[in-house]
Amino acid sequence: MSKNNNIIRQIRRTILIVEDEFINTEILSEILSDSYELLTAENGKEALDVVKTALTPISLILLDINMPVMGGLEFLKIIKADEKYKRIPVIVLTSEKQSELDALELGAADFITKPYDLPEVVIARVRRSIELSEDRMIIQAAERDELTDTYNKHVFIEYASKIDLYHPDDETDVVVVGVDKLNLYNELYGRDAGDYALRSLADILKEIVRKHNGIVGRLRSEYFVLYTNRISNYSELMSEIDKELIEKYNVNNLRFHLGIYQVDSKEESVDKRIDLAKQVCDEVRNSNKEKYHIFDQEAQKKQLFKERLVREVKRAIEEKQFQVYYQPKVNISGNKFVLSSAEALIRWIHPELGFISPGVFIPIFEENGAIRLVDRFVWKEAAMQVKKWKEKYGYTIPISVNISRIDMFDKNLVNHIREIIDEVGISVKDLYLEITESAYNNEIDQAVAIVEKFKEEGFTVEIDDFGSGYSSLNTISILPFDVLKLDMKFVKEMFKNDKTFKMVGIVADIAKYLKVNLVAEGVETREQVVALQSMGYNIIQGYYFSKPVPAKEFELLIEKGFGK
Ligand code: C2E
Ligand code: CA
Ligand code: CA
Repeated sequence: MSKNNNIIRQIRRTILIVEDEFINTEILSEILSDSYELLTAENGKEALDVVKTALTPISLILLDINMPVMGGLEFLKIIKADEKYKRIPVIVLTSEKQSELDALELGAADFITKPYDLPEVVIARVRRSIELSEDRMIIQAAERDELTDTYNKHVFIEYASKIDLYHPDDETDVVVVGVDKLNLYNELYGRDAGDYALRSLADILKEIVRKHNGIVGRLRSEYFVLYTNRISNYSELMSEIDKELIEKYNVNNLRFHLGIYQVDSKEESVDKRIDLAKQVCDEVRNSNKEKYHIFDQEAQKKQLFKERLVREVKRAIEEKQFQVYYQPKVNISGNKFVLSSAEALIRWIHPELGFISPGVFIPIFEENGAIRLVDRFVWKEAAMQVKKWKEKYGYTIPISVNISRIDMFDKNLVNHIREIIDEVGISVKDLYLEITESAYNNEIDQAVAIVEKFKEEGFTVEIDDFGSGYSSLNTISILPFDVLKLDMKFVKEMFKNDKTFKMVGIVADIAKYLKVNLVAEGVETREQVVALQSMGYNIIQGYYFSKPVPAKEFELLIEKGFGK
């Protein structure tokens, strides 16, 4: 034991004997007076007075059960409910089994049966109870945050893990309570007021976990953490805390947020769960919208998935997990359908996750810029494919590549594509550039500048997904493009909705008027082909002719022709 503890043990402790029968008090005094200071009371009521007025702290209470005025059990109940006295150990003096049980349930530390055991036994039990309670107090002093009397993080984790161990099936929440701008609060209202506010908040939290079988800890100055049984209504809880702060503690300006980790699986360590709850707490605090937020496991999974994909991009390119597929664009303006060009579409065949659709990974890569690596890879592959087919078949099959919205911010974009063309040894006429309509929405001036530069270089520019954006007409009125590629959804809907059908026709008229080429994509049926043909669409892309396929399969299409 620590030095500290030894010093405490050398002091003469005070014991309160509560007993109505004089003879019993006498016997106990006889046994204990050599080692202890003794106080006495004849019933519970008197004992309460003694406890409250005693000048020295009372180290132990020896308590009879059957007494007039106020019995032992009632006294015990009062003492144990009182924050100030509940830590005083109580040994119950009794001869009835049922009272022993009741007393233990009420928090008695031990009991001594009447008639009394040998004096040595009584002394030993008394000493042991006092030692245990003092050890506990010392441990508690080290375990607890001094200001708010809550557990420190280390101990909190320990206890929370115990709760998991003994109640593995309980539904539990980790709640991090983050006080906003505590420093500012201290500066504005003074350090004492800040301390008072934190203590008040801690008291309210303790009361809450008491109701939900939980514990409270303090992580760092402005964070508390709760581990509690599942709380079903957090907005109610939030208002309850606010109300208590104001009405009971008169703390008016303390703002706080809650981050909640509410997942039943206990696979994550308590430590990790606290981290996640704290992360959520910081997020809501910064978002300034909600007051609390519950950790979203699905969102977390998605986030981890995203992070994984982004992390693996470089290696995936190196290891050739990405493959470029080609989808034919077929010219239907003449009697015979002929291959006009192809669109390069990327595929990710992941060694563990299998096939990942570009609809999944492209938006992720656009979020963080990784798309630039991927697109460069595709452009180069496509350029080399043009060259290979030219060598093999003796004529050029131009390939469209997709330019992402993000690529448009790259000042070097035009030069870079130019370099690929030169390096591979094809012509600017052989690589078409599909720029999605939404790419023009925000930075219209920059987009115009880039498209103009592409045009100067001699490239063919296609507006992809035409009609999907908010300013389609604006786009076509200021951009110098060559091809209008109608967004797929129009073709999909054209026979379901009269207005859409008319729109498809109007777009064809616009293209005619502007003298630009027209492409319809997502074409799957003969009916669509016939209608589009009659409206003046000359180039068709879609499953009707072929899905995007690997280069080798594409060659079969070339060789067999498109004479559907
Ligand atoms: P997108 O550029 O509009 O490409 C057309 C999409 O429609 C492709 O989907 C294609 O497989 C699909 N498609 C073609 N014909 C039909 C059809 O008849 N019916 C239906 N339902 N779908 C058809 P995919 O390959 O999954 O690509 C999705 C999107 O991902 C592309 O839309 C494009 O925005 C993006 N993407 C694909 N590859 C690349 C790339 O290398 N770079 C960039 N930046 N984006 C790419
Ligand atoms: Ca495209
Ligand atoms: Ca498209």
